[in-house]
Amino acid sequence: MTETILRFEDLGLSNGTLKAIAELGYEAPTPIQARTIRRMLDGTDIIAQAQTGTGKTAAFALPIIERLDADSRDPQALVMTPTRELAVQVAEAFQAYGKYHQVSILPVYGGQPIDRQLRALNRGVQVVVGTPGRLLDHIRRGTLKLDQIRTVVLDEADEMLDMGFIEDIEAILQ
Ligand code: AMP
Repeated sequence: MTETILRFEDLGLSNGTLKAIAELGYEAPTPIQARTIRRMLDGTDIIAQAQTGTGKTAAFALPIIERLDADSRDPQALVMTPTRELAVQVAEAFQAYGKYHQVSILPVYGGQPIDRQLRALNRGVQVVVGTPGRLLDHIRRGTLKLDQIRTVVLDEADEMLDMGFIEDIEAILQ
């Protein structure tokens, strides 16, 4: 049995992150957060399943933020989401959780003018969140550099597979 961790302070998070989540009013980790954050901080690969609204975003966003190289503006984490709405929502969550780490994050999705995304990618972003098709588009154009990526997240993977993104996802993972 894994021990139950009831406090954010016990998960190995930095003071900046603890402050950001305290300001959001989070008092204790949700079960998925308690069970995944430490493992992700250690660099372990994880498959997790939990209902919507149970704190999955913070479960992967907090350890990603902790593991970012603050001195580098290269993309270090890639988050794939099934929809543009989720991409925007996840990007906003990263922004809030990374408030004291000055995380640079960009949502990219189809339907949004690509030149705006290109300018932002050129300036440098540490975390890129997007729908598989648009991410692949940027990878093929050479506008999204992958050589410094340390973490890849398939958010709502079941949903992405249902929506037929498997080929794009495989191409990105390749
Ligand atoms: P999510 O499942 O990631 O979409 O999160 C659902 C909602 O729960 C969001 O509004 C989060 O801000 C909130 N949330 C996430 N983790 C916690 C926590 N540990 N305590 C309280 N609220 C949380």
